[in-house]
Amino acid sequence: MQMFIAVEEAQKLVLETVFTVSEERVGLSDTLGRTLSQPLVSRETLPPFASSAMDGFAVRVADLASLPNVLRVMEDIPAGVVPQCRVEAGACARIMTGAVFPEGANAVVPVEWTRPEGVDHVRIEKAPKAGQFVRPAGQDVRAGDQVFEAGQVITPPVVGMLASLGMGEVLVRIAPGVAIITTGDELVPVDSVPGPGQIRDSNGPALTAQVVAAGGKPLGPFHARDTPESTREALEKAKDADVVVFAGGVSMGERDVVRNVLDEAGWTAIFWKVRQRPGKPLAFGLLDGKPVFGLPGNPVSSSVCFEQYVRPALAKMLGRAESIGQISKAVLSEPIRKAAGLHHFVRGVAEEGEDGRIYVRPTGLQGSNLYSSMAKADGIIHLPEALENPPAGSEVDFERLRWSGR
Ligand code: AMP
Ligand code: MG
Repeated sequence: MQMFIAVEEAQKLVLETVFTVSEERVGLSDTLGRTLSQPLVSRETLPPFASSAMDGFAVRVADLASLPNVLRVMEDIPAGVVPQCRVEAGACARIMTGAVFPEGANAVVPVEWTRPEGVDHVRIEKAPKAGQFVRPAGQDVRAGDQVFEAGQVITPPVVGMLASLGMGEVLVRIAPGVAIITTGDELVPVDSVPGPGQIRDSNGPALTAQVVAAGGKPLGPFHARDTPESTREALEKAKDADVVVFAGGVSMGERDVVRNVLDEAGWTAIFWKVRQRPGKPLAFGLLDGKPVFGLPGNPVSSSVCFEQYVRPALAKMLGRAESIGQISKAVLSEPIRKAAGLHHFVRGVAEEGEDGRIYVRPTGLQGSNLYSSMAKADGIIHLPEALENPPAGSEVDFERLRWSGR
């Protein structure tokens, strides 16, 4: 087991340890947030036929060399109907948006550029250019095109594309089952009034939400008291999970029994303690081939460690292209006090400055028990191990939290 390792090393060990999960076929309405397990090749062309982009008249541009000109209306082509005629010289067809563009014509005159002339003629006052307001077939997708790569996360527009292509079912990665085990004699459920010395369990609900947001299936949360028996019982409840996440009970206290219970159960400990704040006592290993994370119990530590380690692990298990979060450069708008030695994950908010650069600042007090700093944050300001007291104006790495919506 490695101890007190660097953040990058810990993330690398986690990603090296986890495997991609199996796939399943699901109906389109159940695909949101899932991950494609195979590249998707289109059998069809999109749009499937040339159509009009406007309500108006399909014309031959050559007929409109001098304006205004009156054309005979050969037919009406509403959406969903196949044209019967070929547009002849001196004629046109009335056409609706999305209707099949007729043979013979080469542009659409929007209805706003015309005036009716008797029952079956129209006066054209302005000419389109050749091809104008015609939506060509195959402009979006051609048969045989790879539309999505394996690892694509299914967003609402991806659902729309799949529907356009007639893919009513797709192969996606199964959602890894993630058992959450909260620990601590001091914890009471959300709907209880804490007695003296007690606090409400916030990690259980927060981690459950983080698992869902990361594409996993939460199991539990199960609760263990700070005893080996209770911890063993909770671990037993987690046996059907693909991943086990403990919250709390992994530090140095006499009642931090999680690692002892895992040792007894025969896990392979991979690392314990990472040079980071918050979340120093983080533990990671494998039990019966399953990744087990021991997140420190402070709510900010558990939340940050989930985002830094468990989410990337789930992303890799889901075969997603991006497993580690996306980092961009930003400027500190205020100084931060920091000693060298630990990588700091500072919860921060970002704002665009007048110079167009992105400025970041911490969201208030950064104690690992103070959850507001996390709840108000857009992202994590990364301050590397060696950095000391970065002044205002320093360039830093900023990682958007995935739910920040930006
Ligand atoms: P631990 O890692 O078990 O030493 O816990 C560290 C701190 O986090 C203690 O103050 C605990 O009371 C608190 N804590 C642990 N688990 C939770 C939880 N599920 N919800 C809220 N606070 C917790
Ligand atoms: Mg505890």
